Amino acid sequence: MQKIGHFIGGKHVEGTSGRFADVYNPATGEVQAQVALASQAEMDAAVANAAAAQPAWAATNPQRRARVMMKFVDLLNRDMDKLAEALSREHGKTLPDAKGDVIRGLEVAEFCIGAPHLLKGEFTEGAGPGIDVYSMRQPLGVVAGITPFNFPAMIPMWKFCPAIACGNAFILKPSERDPSVPIMLAELMIEAGLPAGILNVVNGDKGSVDAILDDETIQAVGFVGSTPIAQYVYSRATANGKRAQCFGGAKNHMIIMPDADMDQAADALIGAGYGAAGERCMAVSVAVPVGESTADALIEKLVPKVEALKIGPYTAGNDVDFGPLVTKEALGRVKGLVEQGVKEGAKLVVDGRDFSLQGYEDGFFMGGCLFDNVTKEMEIYKTEIFGPVLSVIRAKTYEEALDLPMSHEYGNGTAIFTRDGDTARDFAARINIGMVGINVPIPVPIAYHTFGGWKKSGFGDLNQHGPDGFKFYTRTKTVTSRWPSGLKDGAEFSIPTMK
Ligand code: NAD
Repeated sequence: MQKIGHFIGGKHVEGTSGRFADVYNPATGEVQAQVALASQAEMDAAVANAAAAQPAWAATNPQRRARVMMKFVDLLNRDMDKLAEALSREHGKTLPDAKGDVIRGLEVAEFCIGAPHLLKGEFTEGAGPGIDVYSMRQPLGVVAGITPFNFPAMIPMWKFCPAIACGNAFILKPSERDPSVPIMLAELMIEAGLPAGILNVVNGDKGSVDAILDDETIQAVGFVGSTPIAQYVYSRATANGKRAQCFGGAKNHMIIMPDADMDQAADALIGAGYGAAGERCMAVSVAVPVGESTADALIEKLVPKVEALKIGPYTAGNDVDFGPLVTKEALGRVKGLVEQGVKEGAKLVVDGRDFSLQGYEDGFFMGGCLFDNVTKEMEIYKTEIFGPVLSVIRAKTYEEALDLPMSHEYGNGTAIFTRDGDTARDFAARINIGMVGINVPIPVPIAYHTFGGWKKSGFGDLNQHGPDGFKFYTRTKTVTSRWPSGLKDGAEFSIPTMK
């Protein structure tokens, strides 16, 4: 059985705790590897390595740090197929989707090539007589990232690329369900010229997360995962004096106005609702058609499309729309929620629960499910299902539709499909959600903008990547300087003002 250890101080390190977690091939249901779960001593070793390497890295000029990112981008492109295959094998998503996972991370690495410009400070000449004031952005030191299973390439890169480009050393604690790609990324960073110790990957579970949260050297924690854990990580990290940004779960609504292009809206819902088996924090899980005739037309278009979804293993190549769920537990949970929706009285117009694939009977597959007549009191509406299940909730008016995402506890993404600019503009202005699509179903911002949800989808002040990433991983130091010619006066006893 393949054993996956850690990557500390630029080297592969075997796990010594004696504790392991199974890593599945979700398409076959087989355990394909075991990942080591780190002990406190292993986390301490990673932090010590990072702390020892960080000052020299911070003193390396930003242009040279950016060149490592440049080379890293080349290497990601060189190894794209290999990375995508390893990713699909552990996660289950299709190969084109796995490449998208890598590319969305690569784009943030590209953005980080601009570090020299992004790290430039501010300068005021002559703020007072002979006085100049300047501010600089300095790295925090050792920082950490804790990431989820559903984007094992993209989210680690969203964390470590800006952190490292800013001059920090990084401890990555990836998901224990698909740990191979994060280690491959760390190997590529070393090949790109990153000094040993600046990027460490420590595999583990809650024990390793708590070790990060309580470590006195680690200055900041970036987390992505489910909301209860995001809230827990945020509370414990900040109580320990760390900077934290923690992104959580979602329930993303797409509103379909009567004037929308119905074919376009239905296609958008199929891709955004069922792509990656719904295991995306930006998946659309609730469709809100406005008006009965819009709803009827939408259901009529959706049903055959959901029934025609092609589900299979990533090895089937491009001829698959989505793959299996990540684990047997995830499959059981999603099926359980579908059952609950039926009991609560929602109309299950397409039932994919009995889907089975010849030769892959033990894989964690299920077909697409479509619910109509969902109401906001139902559990399937309140909970993040994280599976290939789309709920249609009918609204009579635009205001009634708008109120649904507005009053939902999550605030990650949302979309509106309409041909009316006035409605779209009103929606974008009033909605209390972090990322908004107008005729775009999955509005994941491009790397040079920032990504982050509102309400229970995000805890902390700054978003991920874009300029916010550089702000999160640096702190400002402001220097007020006066040269000797200005020191001839006597002591000053009142607070200095810049007269
Ligand atoms: P998860 O919360 O189970 O795990 C995330 C990380 O936390 C993993 O590294 C895991 O090892 C660790 N962890 C798990 N349980 C823990 C505990 N009790 N104490 C401390 N650490 C713990 O999430 P997941 O299932 O890997 O990922 C899916 C979730 O992530 C979904 O809710 C999805 O919406 C969310 N997500 C959010 C975003 C976003 O940007 N908002 C992006 C991707 C995924």
